[in-house]
Amino acid sequence: MYDYEELLDRAIARLPDVETTDARFVIPEPKVFAEGKTTILDNFGNIANILNRDPDHIMKYLTRELGTAGKIDGSRAVFQGRFMRSQIANNIQAYVDEYVICSECGRPDTQIVKVDRVLILQCSACGAHRPVKKRKATQVETKEAIEEGGTYEVRIDAVGSKGDGIAKVDKYTIFVPRTKKGDVVKIKVKRISGNLAFADLV
Ligand SMILES: [Zn+2]
Repeated sequence: MYDYEELLDRAIARLPDVETTDARFVIPEPKVFAEGKTTILDNFGNIANILNRDPDHIMKYLTRELGTAGKIDGSRAVFQGRFMRSQIANNIQAYVDEYVICSECGRPDTQIVKVDRVLILQCSACGAHRPVKKRKATQVETKEAIEEGGTYEVRIDAVGSKGDGIAKVDKYTIFVPRTKKGDVVKIKVKRISGNLAFADLV
């Protein structure tokens, strides 16, 4: 048995070194046009290259966010239905924010590694790592899973870089000090900020 940090260190040690560059990271302007009942993203291959991510992963993300089907056709991506250039550009930007840019230093010199079934975005420039947040295709929740002041029983799935235990409840990542991986604990949520929550043991 390895703990989370050990697993992460081992995964990172196996990564090839990534050249960090001072060149500014620029997402190419998507070249988008309609072709019959489909929308073509003509420079998809180039964009995937610059983002340095698996084209299939990007494609899966885009089709899910656009709510349509699509396929990669050579260096182009073909989406069923008509979409505006801005819709595609916004979703590429969202992909970059989620899967490419380091949230600590803002640089794109990152890789995605899978540790213990959790996708981790690892930054080669500053060494930071964070879980890639998992999103649902459709948001059907009417009630938030947790709220400030509420008490819940959670399972600690991981330990963060500062040593706090981390539990996942729905879309929330909850930090619980003085816990370790595998603990099932009762917590009280002190504060929620976006998808992050901070809780104490009760
Ligand atoms: Zn970084």
